[in-house]
Amino acid sequence: METIPFARPDVGAAEAAAVSDAILSGWVTTGRISAEFEQAFAERVGAAHAVAVNSATAGLHLALEAAGIGPGDEVLVPTWTFTASAEVVRYLGADPVLVDVDPDTLALDLSAAKSKVTDRTRGVIPVHFAGLPMDPRALAAFAAEHDLAVVEDAAHAFPASHSGQTVGAGTSAATVFSFYATKTMTTGEGGMVTTDDEDLARRVRVMRLHGIDRDVLDRYTRVGASWQYDVVAPGFKYNMTDVAAAMGLVQLGRAESMKQRRADIAARYDAAFADLPVRLPAAAGEGVEHAWHLYSMRLLDEAPVDRDTFVQLMQEQGVACSVHFIPLHLMTYWRERHDLSPEDFPVASDAITRVVSLPISSALTDDQVERVVAAVRSALKAT
Ligand SMILES: *Cc1c(COP(=O)(O)O)cnc(C)c1O
Repeated sequence: METIPFARPDVGAAEAAAVSDAILSGWVTTGRISAEFEQAFAERVGAAHAVAVNSATAGLHLALEAAGIGPGDEVLVPTWTFTASAEVVRYLGADPVLVDVDPDTLALDLSAAKSKVTDRTRGVIPVHFAGLPMDPRALAAFAAEHDLAVVEDAAHAFPASHSGQTVGAGTSAATVFSFYATKTMTTGEGGMVTTDDEDLARRVRVMRLHGIDRDVLDRYTRVGASWQYDVVAPGFKYNMTDVAAAMGLVQLGRAESMKQRRADIAARYDAAFADLPVRLPAAAGEGVEHAWHLYSMRLLDEAPVDRDTFVQLMQEQGVACSVHFIPLHLMTYWRERHDLSPEDFPVASDAITRVVSLPISSALTDDQVERVVAAVRSALKAT
């Protein structure tokens, strides 16, 4: 019996053809296709600007830099995330301040965040865990109250919306998406920064490619010489290639149908597990569009097995599971640097003992979904 992989990219002949065309076009790095991808993505989320980068990590770094985060600053980050959300703050000489999460959604708990605000706090990086967007109005109000720059980590949240506001289009300084291999759409590696702030978009563009500013150049030179360029800052090398963007354009066109497939799988799981000793993932309420990047449920105390045994039993039945996330406060670097202990994060510290993510790729067949359902029921000794 073939093992069902935890995350399989939903890519095929259309992506392969687009990539092949890009390669054969004679221009393989950032160029016309990347610009087209940026334009199409900005239109899809309803943002004024979209800047393509080679990872969400790069995008978060650039967005924070452009938002003015620097040495000595503090940025609020949920402990329930991937280390990329926090490491980018350290890149700038600032410190992430880890915050516990909401027991239902496992996203940043705004009241816990409030208690961690100091006179050095400059920003907040909300993570739309699993693809369920946080309430943009609550976020904006919190940020306004404490005068914080919001850089949304939307690595899980494409496509998603809340109260009529598409993730990527809001009032935040910037929103950052991931096109990593396992994410809801992929370019192999890649990311996108969206914003309505023209100055921020421009700084991200300049810093994405070595601090080279062609607009400055246009202002000071009249010559059309293509070899001319000027450097205005020690920038980074974070641009997206046209080969990757070609794949992204095809994936973008399929994003809605892939999301619908994941939503259908989630609905099937919810129905099949309703009688089991598990806490189902937080549901999308009225007016919320969930991207369903992850189907992350928690085993209750009444479950006949613990999480590690559950994962083992699933593996034996040919289903690969994963765990999202091992909270950052349990990681050696963050724990030691900030002298953190599990009691400081009661919700996350409890959730990590019982959480498990099931396969939810849009590439799963109906048969595979039913195999996952049967394996979960069997592992939890339900019939
Ligand atoms: C995947 C992920 C990232 C990093 O994305 P990359 O494109 O691999 O850099 C950041 N934050 C979260 C929450 C993620 O899951």
